[in-house]
Amino acid sequence: MNIILLGPPGAGKGTQARILVDERNMVQLSTGDMLREAKDSGTEMGQMVAGVMARGELVTDEIVIGLIREKLETTKADGFIFDGFPRTLAQADALGALLNETGQTLDRVIEIGVDDEALVARITARSTCGNCGEVYNDQTKPIPADGKCTNCGAENQFKRRADDNEESLRTRLMAYYKQTSPLLGYYYAKGLHTRVDGMGSMEAVKTELATRLEG
Ligand code: AMP
Repeated sequence: MNIILLGPPGAGKGTQARILVDERNMVQLSTGDMLREAKDSGTEMGQMVAGVMARGELVTDEIVIGLIREKLETTKADGFIFDGFPRTLAQADALGALLNETGQTLDRVIEIGVDDEALVARITARSTCGNCGEVYNDQTKPIPADGKCTNCGAENQFKRRADDNEESLRTRLMAYYKQTSPLLGYYYAKGLHTRVDGMGSMEAVKTELATRLEG
């Protein structure tokens, strides 16, 4: 089963994708993670996109479609979770074509709906383990006092994303509403869109998401 998790920054796409990877043997394809990796390892493309990402704008369709194409051509999986891709109509068309080429289908597009006010609070409180990607939140899931990640045990590897600040978030939210939210209608028209309430606890969202996958 191939699914897209769709929602604004801070909706919980990455968190839910990680749960699906652990519990269902699916493969997460996060263009945000791929771009951060390219940036951190200092590749030419990584250097090119660093400023755009820091500002919270979208990188070009060509770059992200290229990244996804490469993964789809080289990765075997029971199912893919597209997290943070597609973000534009051109990317959505390209994904449809790529899946077609490889004899695959898109099965569900799950929107994780969250109130706008909650996003700022979530994003500015967010940190992740640099080793395994486990997500922490200053209020709801603080970094353990002993400095060890609860998931992988790595010590003092916690980091905050450079674009998790109020100014970048405003740009990222605007990009979501202007460029990405039209995808909700696009996939509704294709009969693929469904929505879960992303305001509940991680467990509650996970349970609702599971019903959407089975239904
Ligand atoms: P994310 O981790 O999904 O929040 O993505 C972080 C940043 O990477 C975004 O703010 C964009 O600058 C860039 N990015 C990630 N995925 C895409 C995409 N599908 N299209 C364009 N830019 C993207």
